[in-house]
Parts: sequence; C-alpha cells; structure tokens
Amino acid sequence: MISKLEELRAKAISELDSISDPKSLESWRISYLGRKSPLTQILRGLATLPLEERRAAGAAANELKEFLEKSLAQREEIVKEAEIAKAIEVGRLDVTLPGRPATLGRLHPATQTMRQMCGIFTAMGFEVVEGPEVEWDYYNFEALNIPQDHPARDMWATMWMDYQNEKGERPMLLRTHTSPMQIRVMENRRPPVRVIVPGKVYRYEATDATHESMFYQVEGFAVDKNITMADLKGTLFEFARRLFGKERKARFRCDYFPFVEPGVEMAIDCFVCNGAGCQLCSNSGWIEILGAGMIHPEVLRRVNYDPDIYTGFAFGMGVERMPILKYGIDDIRLFYSNDLRFLRQF
Ligand SMILES: [Zn+2]
Repeated sequence: MISKLEELRAKAISELDSISDPKSLESWRISYLGRKSPLTQILRGLATLPLEERRAAGAAANELKEFLEKSLAQREEIVKEAEIAKAIEVGRLDVTLPGRPATLGRLHPATQTMRQMCGIFTAMGFEVVEGPEVEWDYYNFEALNIPQDHPARDMWATMWMDYQNEKGERPMLLRTHTSPMQIRVMENRRPPVRVIVPGKVYRYEATDATHESMFYQVEGFAVDKNITMADLKGTLFEFARRLFGKERKARFRCDYFPFVEPGVEMAIDCFVCNGAGCQLCSNSGWIEILGAGMIHPEVLRRVNYDPDIYTGFAFGMGVERMPILKYGIDDIRLFYSNDLRFLRQF
C-alpha cells in the first residue's frame, strides 16, 4: 500500500510540474484529488484493512492528500503569475499606434465678443478694469444720480441681496449695469482716466427670447479737460466700424440716462439691407447698439472732480447683442443654456 502511494506521489508531482495553464490544473485536480481519483479510492477503502495496516496506510494516504493539495496551490500561484505576465506582454504600449487627439475647448461666444470689444478700445488707449458683481445701492444707483424713490430706478429691474443693515434697509444688490465701476474708478484716481469695464450684470426679469436675467455689458468712460461730445462720437464711430465693418454709418439720437447729460442712443445702418429696411432692422434701416452721453456734472461732483474743469463721456452696451445681430441669433437664452450644438458654431 505504502509503495503504491509513493508511486502515485511521484506521478502526480511530475505531471503537475509541467502544467502551465489553468485548464490543465483543473483536470489534474480531478485526476489526483477528485472523487474518483485513486487516492480517494484508497482513503475510502481504508476501513476494510486490518487495524495495524489501516493505521499506517491511513496516515500515509492523508499525508499524501495534504501534500498534493499544497503542491496544487503552489502551482496555481505560479500559473497565475505567468498569466498576468503574458497579459502585460500582449497589452503592452504600442508606440506605433496613432495618439488619441486631446479634446480642445473653445471660448464662449460672449467671451469672444467681449475680448474683441476690449481689443478695439485698448487699441484706442483705454484700460480694462473689472469690478464686483455684488454691489452697494450707492454705487449702482445713488452715486449715478439715481436717488432712492426716483422713478428712473424702474428702468432697472433689480435683484436685491438678502442682507439688512442696522436701519433695516437692504442696501446690497446684484449690479444692474457695469456703471458702478465709473464711480469706483473715479473715487480713486484723478483725471485723465480712460477705462472700459467688461462684466456680468443682473436683472430681475422673466426670461424670454430677448430677455435674460444675467448677461454681459461693456462700459466705457473717459474724463479729462476739454472732452466733448465730438470725442464721444469719434470714439464710438471708430468702434462701430472696427466691429461691424469700415463701410458702416452711425447715427446718434437723444435718449435719457440719469447719469449723463445729454444722453444719446447710437445706431448703425443695417448691415443686412444696408439701410433699405429688412426684418432685422424692423424696416427702419438702423440698428441700435448702445447708449452713451456726457457724464452728468452731478456725478463728477460726487467723486470730487470739478465739472467746471473736467468733462467726460460714458457709454455702455450689451455684449450678447453684437453676436445676436452679426449671426442672426433669435434667442438670447441660447447663450446660457449650455447646448454644445449652439456653442460649437462659434
Ligand atoms: Zn435691415
């Protein structure tokens, strides 16, 4: 019996050592440790042996069983490692493969336009300044000649901040225009100043095709001795021609803004119909692009500029309006609905 077991051991181990794949390991396990294997048969047959022989044979058979199980486990480890090494070898980095292109983002149409506008004004000697979007009532209205309870405040549907001072007032808001920066800049500098202010503004407004509650503006102003309406006109005409083409004509008409006197609205001749009248210009031949005017003396006085010595002009315009006009976009909400099909066109 003992010699039979030794024979079995030698055969099993020599076979096991040549195995290099998981499938053969499993069939080895079935042949040597399975229910029908010779070793299992021997273990089962132990009961029929005489007691003396049973003891010796039983110990030897169980020892062999343990030995084979241990050997199998070791071989499994070796086979597994070899499999991993093979997988790494197969899947190795192939430097001859073409690379995957990196996906590049692009600038938002509003950002592109804002940069273009800022570029035109900086070329004319203006400096770009940015300011806070959460603003004090003082800078957004009061200092711009729009006192509390003045009906002009109705021109800006305002979003107020949920902040109360000790008097119970709510003096903070989301700026309704970029004009507060006129005051902030002039408070801290002496003329001459030539500044443009690009940035977000907010309105408490139901959104539709022509209204958004958040949009961009570019504000600009210049203060110095002897600045006149002619300077305003020259600057804005030049701007319109650089943005919409050399052949554009521009028109000024009177308008009202509390912080300028006189105030104007500027239009360019329609670039679709060249002034003949079409859908874009509502058959008028003209398209309004911005509001402007000479800075009100009261505004200058507030920042300690003497209006008898200094004069200045200011203008402000919506940024989205420019690509809306240029590309015939019929819904301002497209700018901020994050639809890549729209954004990828610019
Ligand atoms: Zn037209």
